[in-house]
This record gives sequence, C-alpha cells and structure tokens, in this order.
Amino acid sequence: MIDYHVHTLFSGDSTATISEQLEAAARLGLEEICFTDHVDFDNPGANFAPANLASRRYMLREYGGSYEGVRIREGAEISMAPFDECAAKTKAYLADFDADFIIGSLHVVDGVDVYYPDYHRNKTQQTAYLKYVETILESLPRFDFISVLGHYDFVAKFAPYEDRRMRLDLSPLIRHAFTGVFKTLVSMGKGIEINTSAWRGEARWGLDVLKLYRALGGEFVTFGSDAHRSAVLGSRLDEAYELALEAGIPYYATFEKMQPTFRPIV
Ligand SMILES: [Zn+2]
Ligand SMILES: [Zn+2]
Repeated sequence: MIDYHVHTLFSGDSTATISEQLEAAARLGLEEICFTDHVDFDNPGANFAPANLASRRYMLREYGGSYEGVRIREGAEISMAPFDECAAKTKAYLADFDADFIIGSLHVVDGVDVYYPDYHRNKTQQTAYLKYVETILESLPRFDFISVLGHYDFVAKFAPYEDRRMRLDLSPLIRHAFTGVFKTLVSMGKGIEINTSAWRGEARWGLDVLKLYRALGGEFVTFGSDAHRSAVLGSRLDEAYELALEAGIPYYATFEKMQPTFRPIV
C-alpha cells in the first residue's frame, strides 16, 4: 500500500516530524509514501507560510530515497482557487522544486475556509456542497500543473449535518457539477485522490462519486490518509483500495518527477 498524502511540520497545521512519519510508514509496511506539505496562495492575508520545500529536501537527504523499505517521494498539496493570481504564485513557488507529485486541493470558497463551521452558516447542505464542487470546477483549468485533484469531499469533513456524506443524490446540481469536474480532469489527463480523512470515525463513502468518475473516463486514483500526525498515517487505505476496486477504477498511480506509473487495481 502507498500513502500519497502526508504532512509534516513543514505544514503550518502539523507538528509531525519527518522521522516519526517515516517510522509509522515502516511500521505499517507501506511500500511508498509521498510528503505533501501545504503550499497555499488561495487566501491573500490568511495563508500559512508555504512549506519550505528546499529545507525539507535537505532534511530528507540522509535517507537516500527510502527508509526501512519505504520509498520516499517529495510532493506538495497546493490550494487551488478560481483566480489567476493564485495559480501564478503557486507555479512560481514550485518552479525550482522539481516535485514528484502535486495534489491540487480546494480549501477556501468565497474567502472562507470550509474547514470552519462558519462556511455552512446560512446555507443548506446542498448549497454548501454544490458551491464547493462548482468552485473546484471553476479553478481546475488554471492548474494544469497538478497530478490529481485532492479530497473532492473536503467540504463534508467537518460539516454540521447529521448525515454529512458527500453524495450525488443530494441534488441533481451536485451530480452535474461533479460531471463537469470529472470531464475536465479526464481531458487534462489528471486523476483524483481517495482521501480517507473525511470519513473520520464513520463508514466509508464515495462509491457513487467514484463510479461517476469512472463512467466519464476516469482511469486512475491515488490513495492518501492526509495524516497530520503519525497515529493516523496509512489510516483506512485498505478501504480506499476496496472502494476503487468496487467502482471499477482500473489503476492507482505513483509518481516520480511528475511521471505517473499506473498499477492495476485487482
Ligand atoms: Zn487539504
Ligand atoms: Zn492535506
């Protein structure tokens, strides 16, 4: 198994050291992990400082590319937004880095981080989720340098509804917006991530969304725990794999210097 969404203290919201994340990965017997610290230029004035990727690379040198059998890849999770300045700043920041892998995620909608309950105030679940997916769709064409779309269901992660699952049957408009997102991704040659962190303590979800992705030509996914601490690294990746299998997704991908290797999901 692989974990392609891992944070360290190079992210403003994590205190996990590189070595504790690597130890956790080795303990679980993971084959490969990719460090994906935050690079955010989506919310002028309110961003974490972007991860110092050069300094992280310097600290990773001692491992020579692997730790106890775990291959190490160097990536970033960038925040997308529907304006050109965000894309330009992000691209410029990454220009000298030579990343293995880049997750394009949406965190902020209309200036509000959907992580916070405030985002949901004065919205129905349908409108809150729809706006999130529509903003992904609006942002994507500017971010041709990503590898995959990150956590398509991030808006559901801390949502205050009794049933907070991201589901296509919440509204025809949500299905329509996802259709646009997946058609765009497929035409750009990009994949999506199955991010296990949004499920939190609850049953996994996403089969309907993944089936739609597949029906529209989606061929590969990546798997990520989004671990900001070592206790949850690798969490529920086996379930993510089963979900992809059930949805008929043919491949998962690993990346080196942005080049994917597709491995069959069987
Ligand atoms: Zn994220
Ligand atoms: Zn993340």
